[in-house]
Parts: sequence; C-alpha cells; structure tokens
Amino acid sequence: MLYIVATPIGNLKDITLRAIEVLKSVDLIACEDTRHTKILLDCYGIKTSTTSFFQHNRLTKGQYLLKLLQEGKNVALVSDAGTPGILDPGYNIINLAIANNIAVTVIPGAVAFVNALVMSGRPAHEFFFGGFLPNRKIARQNRLREWAKLKCTIIFYESSHRILASLEDIQVVFGDKEIVLARELTKKFEEVKRGSAREVLGYFKTRLPRGEFVLVV
Ligand code: SAM
Repeated sequence: MLYIVATPIGNLKDITLRAIEVLKSVDLIACEDTRHTKILLDCYGIKTSTTSFFQHNRLTKGQYLLKLLQEGKNVALVSDAGTPGILDPGYNIINLAIANNIAVTVIPGAVAFVNALVMSGRPAHEFFFGGFLPNRKIARQNRLREWAKLKCTIIFYESSHRILASLEDIQVVFGDKEIVLARELTKKFEEVKRGSAREVLGYFKTRLPRGEFVLVV
C-alpha cells in the first residue's frame, strides 16, 4: 500500500492519530526533505526509515519506491507541508502506483489553501485554486486576467520573495476588489490581512513580508 500522509503546515500538533500510526507502521517513509520531516518524526517518536523523494530524483526514486511496493512493502509519502500531491512531487509517485495497480490511500489532514479559504470568510461553495503564479511579470498579469473572468473565489499560493510584485499585479488586474492575504497559517505569527491590493501592499511595504502566503481574491 502507498499511504499519502498529510503532515502539518506549520504547527506540529496538526497531525492526526492515524497519520502517526501509519508513519510508525510502514516499512519506509518517502520525504520531500528528510531533514525537515525528521523534526516531525522526532516529535512523535517515529523511528521508521526515511528516504528522499523530491522534484529532481522523482523518476529514479519513483522506480525504486515502485519496486518496494511491488515486493509487498508499505510506503508512506509525506511532503514538507500539508497534503502530498498538492503542488509537490507527490503527483508523480501517486500516478506511477496507480498505473502499476498498487493500492493507494490518503491519510487526510492540513492543506494550506483550504485553511485560508475557510478563514477568509469568502464564498466557498464554488472556488478556483490556481497554484502558484508564473515568475515573469507579463505572464503573471496574463494569468491573473484569465482568473479575473471567473465568477467565483480564487485562491493561490505565493512566496515571500514575490509577494510584493504579485500584489502590484493583483492591483493592476483587480483594482479595488477586496482581497484576503493569509500568512504563516497555524504558526506563531499567523496573520490574515483584508483590504484592497493597494491597502495590503501598503501594509507590507512598511513591514518586510516574511513566511508563506495564500491569497484569496
Ligand atoms: N502541499 C501543500 C499543501 O497541502 O498546501 C502545499 C505545498 S506548496 C509547495 C507550498 C506553498 O503552500 C507555500 O509557498 C505557501 O504558499 C503555501 N503554504 C504552505 N504552508 C503555509 C502556511 N503555513 N501558511 C501560508 N501558506 C502556506
């Protein structure tokens, strides 16, 4: 069985009893970053062996994990934060397992965009999750223009080094529409900022934006 195990998006207590049980019982845990996951495993006294599975070794390591699964071993997959498969290499091994008739199950838990969407107070009966915006300004604005045609809540991820540039582009495309910016969810400095992109931009221009971000428009 391939277990896709959700882990915390910040607060180490945000993990289910079942996730801990599975991580203790499998033969191997495939981690996006073994050093990062070690902190979680140490916290819960989980002694299971780990191996890395990330963007650049996903093809070779994927074959290795598949071989173990075909031999009847149980493997758990975790990412650095939240639910594997949502914008991390999890997708590749899940597909490989499905294509090879390996049983796959998901141990549910945190997903950053779900947390932000619910916390935003915006309509959540219909929404669009866009992942990350493109790196380049023109492509970013074009992507935002596409999203602006949608008649539902739009959610996407952003990193600290690009948040100011993205807020400028959101202002260009969405004008004065109110947005919600969720930062460092479940962590000590969790913060939710509401206002137009101009207002949110003004706020973060006076305080260096740190951490991880989810935007809700
Ligand atoms: N698999 C993860 C999930 O289930 O949400 C997402 C992985 S993606 C590579 C990482 C991005 O998720 C970050 O750049 C940030 O935008 C968002 N994210 C993760 N943890 C977060 C947190 N605690 N607060 C705000 N955003 C977070």
